Formats: sequence, structure tokens, C-alpha cells
Amino acid sequence: MAMMTGDQYVESIRRMNMKIFMFGEQISSAADNPILRPSLNSVKATYDLAHSPEYEDLMTVKSHVTGKKINRFTHIHHSAEDLVKKVKMQRLCGQKTASCFQRCVGLDAFNSLFSTTFECDKKHGTKYHQNFLEFLKEAQEKDWTVDGAMTDPKGDRGLSPGKQADPDLYLHVVERRKDGIVVRGAKAHQTGICNSHQVVVMPTIAMGPEDKDYAVSFAVPLDAENLFMIVGRQSCDTRKLEGSNLDVGNCQYGGMEALTIFDNVFVPNNRIFMDGETDFSGMLVERFAGYHRQSYGGCKVGVGDVLIGAAALAADYNGAQKASHVKDKIIEMIHLNETLYSSGIACSAEGFKTESGNYLIDLLLANVCKQNVTRFPYEITRLAEDLAGGLMVTAPSEKDLRHPKLGPYIEKYLRGVASVPTETRLKILRLIENLTLGTAAVGYRTESMHGAGSPQAQRIVISRQGNIEMKKQLAKAIACIE
Ligand code: SF4
Ligand code: FE
Repeated sequence: MAMMTGDQYVESIRRMNMKIFMFGEQISSAADNPILRPSLNSVKATYDLAHSPEYEDLMTVKSHVTGKKINRFTHIHHSAEDLVKKVKMQRLCGQKTASCFQRCVGLDAFNSLFSTTFECDKKHGTKYHQNFLEFLKEAQEKDWTVDGAMTDPKGDRGLSPGKQADPDLYLHVVERRKDGIVVRGAKAHQTGICNSHQVVVMPTIAMGPEDKDYAVSFAVPLDAENLFMIVGRQSCDTRKLEGSNLDVGNCQYGGMEALTIFDNVFVPNNRIFMDGETDFSGMLVERFAGYHRQSYGGCKVGVGDVLIGAAALAADYNGAQKASHVKDKIIEMIHLNETLYSSGIACSAEGFKTESGNYLIDLLLANVCKQNVTRFPYEITRLAEDLAGGLMVTAPSEKDLRHPKLGPYIEKYLRGVASVPTETRLKILRLIENLTLGTAAVGYRTESMHGAGSPQAQRIVISRQGNIEMKKQLAKAIACIE
């Protein structure tokens, strides 16, 4: 089975025996939990869209390993065109779900590990690339969703991994056996982890020789022994328990994150992609982060499209669509959103071939892309709230709207233009609320700031890649300075 349908995917997750904790209780699967199911639906969309003839060119591709048709989320990019299509696919998925659809972290882990293991083997004579290829082949054949886990809790940010008061604040190897390694630690903010079949763990920072045990990368299934997840809260998450599509704003989709604990997890030798090669830790981090910063030039833009559409509808329903300031605000939102897309496309079009044969984005442009993402969605959000008006946060619940006595008053007094039912107007306002302040705000707002690395992480790369010396030479030449 090289490509699962959405329903087959849901079943495959339901069959797994994951240990997921939420509100102090253990649940076995996201598939049947009302708070988590919307996040599973978002990943399911990446399977369903791949079976739609309309999106075949974006969502599917020929595997370079097996020659079979696969979902692009499991692909190794082999051209700049592949990189561009990745961003377009992400914009499409963002438009269809208005959420984080979670599957990109695995794709970005695949591509960063593909090239890094190749270069590591070349220098150290290790066998990680072969291990990785076998894993990739299985991931493509089984059409897995794979979580890419990079972010360690990090404890005291002023101390390196091995100098922390608690040695587990960065995930590390605690035992080396003949048949594999045992690891302990945690990965924080793991997007989509309980909707994934496997997790690929990577180090979170460049490391020095003294941190050998922390320079570790591997894959394990998410129902591995001694691995468990603690789901993070989202603003308004328990609204999903109330059974009202109107009140949640997004009828089907959502995202999820969890603190994932590796409490002495065994990793067999054939699933190890790095173990002690500290000189390649920085490369893996830089490449994974680069790919994921490119990703934001697609996914956030797609969600932005939905938010702009919702803001424009809110203006229509208020009868304000012809006001020049309203038109101008919508133009500004489009301008900001397409600027994000431009850098996502640009870093892809400028992609280049690595020694292993896959394509890497232009790192400077990918970091500029993500730096813009730390700002523009906030302005787009501000403008959407401006156009929505205060009712977005003061409207009564669906129960009140359906109430025999209260409903008619809500219908009467909260109506905008006479031709649009009050319920329709409230639906759009709830969607804007969901994207700006509710459960989806995790993915659209705060994740825009901190996902794929906080703003300062991009500025460090920008300063490294910005080539200021070359620019000084240009200025000297123009000014005739010897
Ligand atoms: Fe994909 Fe965007 Fe979610 Fe990252 S934040 S997993 S790029 S949808
Ligand atoms: Fe993310």
C-alpha cells in the first residue's frame, strides 16, 4: 500500500496502542476523542487530498527510492521544482483545514536527515544513511505520518546540555547495548505527535565534543514502550466538548501539541541516524530548521487566505464592504500574506543540490521567510479583528441562539445586513475568533512566533548568511575606496 486513504489512515492510528494523557487521564487514541479528533482530521486531509485528481500534481510524486506514486509528504526533494511544489501543497492544505496539518515536520526531518546522514557517513565511515534509507522506504510504502521531534525542554538556556542541573533536560543516550541504545529525555511542543505513526528525534542545537551522548537521532513508533505524551491545552479547547460547530468556529479541523516523554526508550541499531557525531548536530539542526522555516511560507499563507476571506465576509455581513478603509485593510492583509508566500517560493526556487542528491532551500531566504512569519500574521490578525468588530468576542452561544425565548432576540438584534441570517454572521465571527484567539491561534499566532525556532534563531542565521563583507566590498568599489 503506497498511499492510504484518509479513512485507512484514521484506522491505522486507532489500531496503535499509544499512551496519551490529557486532563490527568489516559486515552488510547486521538481518533475517538472530541478534543483531539479535529487535529486528526487535519492530518487525514493530507491523505484525502492526495486521492483527489484535482490536486494530484501537488499532493503526489514518484518516489526516487521505489519509483512508485507516493504522497508528497514522504518525498525527498530532487529539484527546486519539488521544493516549490512543497510550499504550494502546504498552502493548499492550510486553505482546506485553516489549521496546522502537522505532517510537514516529518517531511522536513526526512530531507534534513537524508543529506546529513550522507555527509556524516562520508566523514566518519558510519552507516546512518543506509539506516535512514530503509526507514524512508518503509515510511513511503506504509504512507506514514512521521513527527519530527527537535525541541528539548532546554532548562537553563545559559548552560550546555551536559552542564544542566538535571541531565535529562536534553534528550540523551543513557545506555549502549549490542542491539541498540536506550534514550531518556523529552521533546516539547510536539505538533501532531499523537496523530503520527513514528517519531524521528533530532538534537536541538549544535553541540561540542563533550556532549556526545546528546548528539543523537533515531526513529521509534509512537506506541513504543516507555514513551508517552501529555497533551497541551489550547485556548477554548473544552468548547469542543460542547458539540456546537457554531461555537468552535472551525467545524472539522484543528491542531494539537504535546510534551512527549522518553522514559528509557529502546532504539534498535537499524533505526539510529546519529549517535555521538557532535560535528553533524549543527548541520542537522540548521537544515531541519531551514526546511521548516520554508514550510511556514506555505502553511501560514493558506490559513491566512481563510482569515482574509473570513474578514471580508464579516465586512460584507456588516454592510461595510464598500467603505474605502475596509477595502484598504483587505488589500493590506493580502499584501502581507503574499509577501510571506513570496519568500517561501523564493527560498525554494533558489534551492540547490546537496552532496547526497536531494535539494536544500536557500537558507538565508528561508530564514527571512520565517522572520516575516513572526510578524505579518500578527498584523493580519489585528486587521481581521478590526474588520470583525467586538461581536467576535461578545456573541452569545449557539444554545442561546437555539433557545425558544432568547433565540428570536439574538436573531433580531445581532443581525447585520437584512439579507444574511444572524447565524451566518455569527459563524464567520466564530471562525475569526478561532483563528485569532481560539484553538487555531496556537497554529496561526503563537506558532508563527516560536514554531520552527523563535525570531532570534532566524536572526542568527541571517547574520551568518547575510555576507556583510561582500556588501562592504560592493560599497567600497562604488565609492572608489582602495
Ligand atoms: Fe506544517 Fe505549518 Fe504545522 Fe509546521 S506549522 S507542521 S509547517 S502546518
Ligand atoms: Fe510548526
